[in-house]
Amino acid sequence: MLSDERRRFLDALRAILGAAHVLHQPQDVAPYLTDWRKRYTGQALAVVLPGDAAQVAAVVQLCALHGIGVVPQGGNTGLVGGATPNGRGEQIVLSTRRLNRIRAIDPAGGVLIAEAGCVLAEVQQTAASEGLLFPLSLAAEGSCTIGGNLSTNAGGTAVLRYGNARDLCLGLEVVTAQGEVLDALNLLRKNNAGYSLRDLYIGAEGTLGIITAAALKLFPQPAAQITALVAVHDVAAAIALLTLAQGRLGCSLTGFELMSAHSLQLVQHHFPQLAVPFELPSAWCVLLESSEAEGEPQGRARLEALLEAALDAGLIVNAAVAQSLAQSRALWHLRESIPLAQAQEGLNIKHDIGVPMSRMVAFVESTAELVTQALPGARLVVFGHLGDGNLHYNVQAPQGADAARFLADHQALCNRIVHDAAVACGGTFSAEHGVGQLKRDDLQRYGHPVALAQMRAVKQALDPRDLMNPGKLLPDAPPR
Ligand SMILES: Cc1cc2nc3c(=O)[nH]c(=O)nc-3n(C[C@H](O)[C@H](O)[C@H](O)COP(=O)(O)OP(=O)(O)OC[C@H]3O[C@@H](n4cnc5c(N)ncnc54)[C@H](O)[C@@H]3O)c2cc1C
Repeated sequence: MLSDERRRFLDALRAILGAAHVLHQPQDVAPYLTDWRKRYTGQALAVVLPGDAAQVAAVVQLCALHGIGVVPQGGNTGLVGGATPNGRGEQIVLSTRRLNRIRAIDPAGGVLIAEAGCVLAEVQQTAASEGLLFPLSLAAEGSCTIGGNLSTNAGGTAVLRYGNARDLCLGLEVVTAQGEVLDALNLLRKNNAGYSLRDLYIGAEGTLGIITAAALKLFPQPAAQITALVAVHDVAAAIALLTLAQGRLGCSLTGFELMSAHSLQLVQHHFPQLAVPFELPSAWCVLLESSEAEGEPQGRARLEALLEAALDAGLIVNAAVAQSLAQSRALWHLRESIPLAQAQEGLNIKHDIGVPMSRMVAFVESTAELVTQALPGARLVVFGHLGDGNLHYNVQAPQGADAARFLADHQALCNRIVHDAAVACGGTFSAEHGVGQLKRDDLQRYGHPVALAQMRAVKQALDPRDLMNPGKLLPDAPPR
């Protein structure tokens, strides 16, 4: 863009939003240009902070006039570079930070309407203040936003019971690529009037339009939550424990996380203040949570009976049941600290695979062998939402190695091994984090040709000029 045109464009943005909400000085835009993992840094013509859907629509119309790509950004905690602009300084970042109002809460209807920039933890707290539960929960909940959660169809730790972000959404308000406001803030549990446009925008990573508000489902707060850390013999035993727990606890089972002993040792090493309640006696642990409608004594009794049955069946080696909310939080803190401990340990290669439960043991065993054969000394840091068939099958450089060098030399091979193995087991290379920039090539490689053609057709129909988060999820359109 020539400097005159750029000036006119910035003036027009200021006329829509007010000067305070159009950032273009390098020091002001810098915080919006790098992703959470610091793997991608882009450039932007400007960062804009609209305050309502009408302003978002006006910005998109202006961008359409000038042919400027729009990169939506919520909490910027995404792990695949989806909210980072490209490096050519030809796009704007549209931050949803000011779209942060809870518009309405209807406790009787079990619905809350939140604007896209509401931080997930604040939505949880608002629901809790009415005695209700918004169950989406993930380690980034203090920063990530409802718009980002829906755009990535986030999973988290309670999918087993409540489903992922898509399952928690009744309706959306979206600004389309043409700058129209689509009011689809449906509050109904049943509505079969035509295509579900909501489901198109959810998980689209901002490539089809900008979510400005959402109607979210609320649930009754459980009377008690009981958490246990359980050492299991192996992954097969963890899966057998899952089946047993599902049978005995039914929908009270709200969390089932697998963690390798090595992941927990990494946490102990980097955060010695976080105590694992027993010496790690085996290679794998499970964090199990039961949410009880009846009350704490009943819940505790049922969980303890489950653990006794698992011990009798030879599935578990040791277990610690939290005796208080504080202890329960401490156990979850161990799980949530694994990515942070990994970051402290150095650069690492992250995977977010999903595999059908019937193939999980084969996947874990054969992939460990393949990775360690191809990359001698590489350390596996495996943990994740086993209850959903989703593991973060991460790989850390060998002890003492130059991690940056290891990544530069081996990341592509390592991704190929892990993703090929997951797909060969009938699984996916992206279970919950999405595609963004990081996994665009994987989508082209592993996507079914018919599915890819239909995705391109949807993109072409809704955003024919490729202005909505260009270059994410699907390959870059040819230069304009
Ligand atoms: C420590 C940590 C733990 C995590 N744990 C999990 C986990 O357990 N499960 C999980 O699924 N994810 C997890 N994540 C990933 C991340 O937190 C989620 O993907 C989250 O939903 C992203 O929300 P955000 O507001 O930060 O989105 P951003 O990072 O800002 O954006 C993510 C994508 O959504 C698009 N987008 C953002 N807002 C909008 C909008 N209003 N309209 C349209 N598009 C939009 C962006 O362009 C981008 O493509 C974790 C991340 C971290 C750092």
